[in-house]
Amino acid sequence: MGQLHVFFFPIMAHGHMIPTLDIAKLFAAHSGVKSTIITTPLNAHLFAKSIERAKHAGVDINIITIKFPTAEAGLPEGCESADQLTSDDMIPKFLKATTMLQAPLELVLQEHRPDCLVADMFFPWATDSAAKYGIPRLVFHGISFFALCASESLRLYKPQTTVSSDDEPFVVPNLPHQIKLRRTQLPEHSRQETESDFGKLVEKVKESEVKSYGVIVNSFYELEPDYADHYRNVLGRRAWHIGPVSLCNREIEDKAQRGKEASIDEHDCLKWLNSKKPNSVIYICFGSMANFPASQLYEIAMGLESSGQQFIWVVRQSKNEADKNEEKWLPEGFEERMKDRGLIIRGWAPQVLILEHESVGGFVTHCGWNSTFEGISAGLPMVTWPMFAEQFFNEKLVTDILRIGVGVGSLKWKRRTATGGIERESIAKAVKRVMVGEEAEEMRSRARELKDLAKKAIEEGGSSHSDLNSLIQELSLYRA
Ligand code: UDP
Repeated sequence: MGQLHVFFFPIMAHGHMIPTLDIAKLFAAHSGVKSTIITTPLNAHLFAKSIERAKHAGVDINIITIKFPTAEAGLPEGCESADQLTSDDMIPKFLKATTMLQAPLELVLQEHRPDCLVADMFFPWATDSAAKYGIPRLVFHGISFFALCASESLRLYKPQTTVSSDDEPFVVPNLPHQIKLRRTQLPEHSRQETESDFGKLVEKVKESEVKSYGVIVNSFYELEPDYADHYRNVLGRRAWHIGPVSLCNREIEDKAQRGKEASIDEHDCLKWLNSKKPNSVIYICFGSMANFPASQLYEIAMGLESSGQQFIWVVRQSKNEADKNEEKWLPEGFEERMKDRGLIIRGWAPQVLILEHESVGGFVTHCGWNSTFEGISAGLPMVTWPMFAEQFFNEKLVTDILRIGVGVGSLKWKRRTATGGIERESIAKAVKRVMVGEEAEEMRSRARELKDLAKKAIEEGGSSHSDLNSLIQELSLYRA
């Protein structure tokens, strides 16, 4: 019998494509397994260099492109990924485009006849597509066990409907810990009374999760054992945890070249970090999608300055032309005053490379799961600043359960362009709390323990290593 051929089909968003590439590499690193990633032409370059390097190292991994129906869905030319959606009315068009990928995906399945399809949660129809060709479909959500359990609890029990105001806290029912949230922190679809199109999609996602062969989770058992058990034993899902998948990147190039091309040369970045003392730099980055108005960037700058800490701050260029005017978001003379203390990266940072450097001692994060988990895997205490998606759940995991972070005070779910409103004093205070003093040391030492556990999980015999092995074995038997 030939190689086990696994197809990977991530939605066109960096927070999904980046970990999917790592997962595809992990599968293909097993002897007798071959991975193929399916994506669209304008996203292919995001994978190309990594795939080349992996192939060079003898890993059997390939890429196939299918056309993205940009014009058919009414999107502007060249728009093939979620970070290019600059207004809310583009979201339904983008989702429509993704449903139109079913037919081309099926053609590819028919032609190549893989043994398994790992498809993104945003493609609920992929379960039926895989079934047409008699192969199992695995779901990849890209979120933690904790977030999977919390979102299912909200969907089943709707505790948000029992409170009388948006700001009244409620308990998320039937979870292993007492977790409190407010309505303002929930995604739009779970706050609305009538079911929105996105709400309908979420229902389909849940149905397909149950109908699929199982779920791949980028987590490790020892990080969230109560929730890994809850998801399997109470919610009854078949799941394999195989993370942290980002740790499969061992070489400098692999760590530095994830997603977009970095806006700073990785060696310059390392040189800057090498000149600093251990744990003396805080890294600030809000992922691939979030944007801030100029007024909020200004507050961040002022907060960083008054925190007295050294920093690397990644500023994504705002899509709003007016905000491109730096005078509006950079306090006068800021860069000159900060020239020995701070580094601003405009655009895309080599995040994993930075987080793993010994000079970095803390992370201000928007709590996207990849960033959060990369911070955990690097043993860093965090300032949590959630904005949208399931980021408010991740904040709870970090602050209330793992106790390795403090919240900056973000309380309002808002897609993409965050409302801002977090003042410099809160930013400076939270940054100092994770960087200096006894509380910071306690959080850092807990975070370090998690980093060690994360490393063990992916080593031979570790929980994630074993789960991946048993999944591959099961898939081989399924085929036989
Ligand atoms: N990332 C990066 N450089 C950047 C911004 C983001 O490498 O300047 C990577 C980050 O390491 C993570 C991913 O992009 O792997 C972002 O995913 P996450 O789930 O944290 O947030 P999202 O972008 O989905 O909001």
